[in-house]
Amino acid sequence: MEQIKDQQTMLQEALNFGKPYVRYGKPAGYIPELAKIDPNRLGVALCNLDGTMVTAGEVDTYFTMQSISKVMSLILAIAQNGYEYVFTKVGMEPTGDAFNSMVRLDQLTDNKPFNPMINAGAIAVASCIRGANLAERQQACVEFARTLTGNPEVDIDFSVFASEKATGYRNRAMINLMKSNGIIDGEPEEHLDLYFSICSISCTCKDLAYFGAVLANNGVDPRSGKELIPLRVVKLARSLMVTCGMYDYSGEFAATVGMPSKSGVGGGILSAPIGKCGIGVYGPALDVKGNSVGGLKILEYLANEMQLHMF
Ligand code: GLU
Repeated sequence: MEQIKDQQTMLQEALNFGKPYVRYGKPAGYIPELAKIDPNRLGVALCNLDGTMVTAGEVDTYFTMQSISKVMSLILAIAQNGYEYVFTKVGMEPTGDAFNSMVRLDQLTDNKPFNPMINAGAIAVASCIRGANLAERQQACVEFARTLTGNPEVDIDFSVFASEKATGYRNRAMINLMKSNGIIDGEPEEHLDLYFSICSISCTCKDLAYFGAVLANNGVDPRSGKELIPLRVVKLARSLMVTCGMYDYSGEFAATVGMPSKSGVGGGILSAPIGKCGIGVYGPALDVKGNSVGGLKILEYLANEMQLHMF
């Protein structure tokens, strides 16, 4: 109980620390549905490895996972197809470029996108997710998201999906380029719809904290004790989160904050300090790289106060 009370104070302090920074960011403007969101929202949730949850701020509001879903779809694609097959479609190297950059997509000998945490790589990974049709593939992703977050309410936000589909010309260009380079099997448009659906899965920061706790707990569900992800895959996911999870801020974030994390332009950040806890933050005001400004400050504060830096 004492431990929980201390964490509660720390979370509230972290929230207070992050709050003044939200005015330096703004919601993602390139997806019309996201541009409308109130930038002042801010919340943080921490899930201990026994499943107990501590929260501060706006923690019950649903928002779309966006790029955070890339961790989940990678794990699912590997579960369905095996590790070796998925990495015939995508590499493991960080780029240092923006998440939606195309510059490196047509200059490699094997034509593979660099890693699964950038859009091109995640689109290639989505193309591996199995099912008889789009609806079945969407359902598989939603079910997996519910398992990893422990929340049966998690679902696709179809207004965000429609907004992304209507404006996603860059992502469409990437999949067409990868198709012409032999990376994508089957129909690009269905894979792209699946990718937009996965990005539009909506959750709360408590759900992200739970997912983080599964990753921090070596793939084991904190409440049921069941293994949800094999250890080899958890290690891979956490490594890619460290090297590529925070867009072109990943290097500095790994050095200064030091927790495997994945950010999304919906304003969420998922963190998984190994063997410690899971953390979810939500703050839709983003910096120019696409990371939540308030969220970054909250994580920085918690990493310092709770000594969560992995090194
Ligand atoms: N759905 C977004 C896109 O494809 C995800 C971007 C992100 O969160 O980084 O542009």
